[in-house]
Amino acid sequence: MIRIFNTASGKKEDFRPIHEKKVGMYTCGMTVYDYAHIGHGRKYVGDDIVRRTLQYFGYSINHVQNVTDVGHLVSDEDSGQDKMEKGALKHGKSVWEVAEYFTDHFYASMDALNVLRPTIICKATEHITEQVDLVKTLMEKGVAYDTPEAVYFDVTKFPDYGKLFGQKLEDKKTAVREEVHTGEYKKNPRDFVLWFKRVGRFENHIMYWQSPWGDGFPGWHIECSAMSMKYLGETFDIHTGGIDHISIHHINEIAQSEAATGKTFAHYWLHHAFLTVDSTKMSKSLGNYFTVEDVIQKGYDPLALRFFYLSAHYRQQLNFTWEALSGAQAGYKTLCNLVRYILDKKNAASSDEISQAAQDFIDTTHLQWTDAVSDDFNMPQAVAVLFEYLKRIKDEVELSGADYAALYDEVIALDSILGLKLDHVKLVDEVNAPQHVLTLVKEREEARHEKNWNESDRLREEIIRQGFSVEDTSEGPVIRVV
Ligand code: AMP
Ligand code: ZN
Repeated sequence: MIRIFNTASGKKEDFRPIHEKKVGMYTCGMTVYDYAHIGHGRKYVGDDIVRRTLQYFGYSINHVQNVTDVGHLVSDEDSGQDKMEKGALKHGKSVWEVAEYFTDHFYASMDALNVLRPTIICKATEHITEQVDLVKTLMEKGVAYDTPEAVYFDVTKFPDYGKLFGQKLEDKKTAVREEVHTGEYKKNPRDFVLWFKRVGRFENHIMYWQSPWGDGFPGWHIECSAMSMKYLGETFDIHTGGIDHISIHHINEIAQSEAATGKTFAHYWLHHAFLTVDSTKMSKSLGNYFTVEDVIQKGYDPLALRFFYLSAHYRQQLNFTWEALSGAQAGYKTLCNLVRYILDKKNAASSDEISQAAQDFIDTTHLQWTDAVSDDFNMPQAVAVLFEYLKRIKDEVELSGADYAALYDEVIALDSILGLKLDHVKLVDEVNAPQHVLTLVKEREEARHEKNWNESDRLREEIIRQGFSVEDTSEGPVIRVV
């Protein structure tokens, strides 16, 4: 039985999906106005672990993720500048180009981290009709109201507003009044925008569509309700997001979805803690971020970064430093070498029957592993189980080829959750790298020496295309088979 910490109840709960072996999972995606950074990497690797764990236990997953390419203002509230227009200005591109460029950048970064692509990726701008329809329903139900500047959701018409996450409307009203610009026509400070009109401060808003309330664009929250319900139904199993989404975005998603359908929106709410730098959230707006390219450029394997993420539980904050990443890279290398050891033994010995001792050892490990991963996706514990397993295999002397083959298969099965590509570990080492790869590595060294990072990146990509990776160590470049 998988146990998940549900923000809605504040405790770990047994996971019981709506359909026996099918799970619907919705993940709030990126606002694509700037580069995806390794803080995003942590969050989406976290979702990837959830998905892979469910798959490991035999569930089939419909994993839906949105791309926010319109409607998200710089504060998570309804005040501030539009993020897309801010990004367009900063990067000298049109809003549409910005959206496309950073969406591609986001998914390329996630690919490098071996994050499985969601089964459905949906863009807010491609689901305007669904969002307008949902706002219409809310108007018909009398929980939304039209004003000259926007259509608002009326929180007083949804008595359970904020309750799921333990917030009292009264508390929010006072807090909000202090800090946030409230629209002139808002009835209650906590009311939020469903549809912005192209008037006033948004008179020249570049992205806009027609609607029954005039030209405009959707508020940020409505896209997630409209698209999740379109692809997963009015009630689905798991909804995830960063912890910053709890207090505004998810509360608003719940209010508008449940007010529209009268049904529970999502059963399990899973929230990921931040990756920080000097204990401050790594973020696009603060500019204190590194991208996956930065990591690669400094000679780290993106999978070492993934390994670094796994060192903390997803509900614990994790602080990023280059030293910590170096440590993770060393740990990842040790892991690969231990796997390489088994591979070597498996290939060298002649095959026969697997021994009872090896089978028992696999079974025990399997149980320990299952305990770790099913306990709210406890990755630090799971990695510890794997290390212990590999170290004990290395200490054994009397194992047969069949034993090593079975032990190896178990490693690969466990890695289906970790996603560290341990099945790519090969026996070939750098001395066996072909001459043309060695030439590329040499050229890359020269480019790095001249600080020509574009060229060194290009050469790295070429090396990867040839099936090798290069890692920069104090003794010089180390080449591995990937
Ligand atoms: P955004 O594009 O800012 O809306 O972020 C997309 C998702 O990434 C949200 O769920 C955020 O909570 C999450 N996120 C952003 N920055 C970080 C970070 N430093 N650590 C972990 N998650 C983050
Ligand atoms: Zn969302």
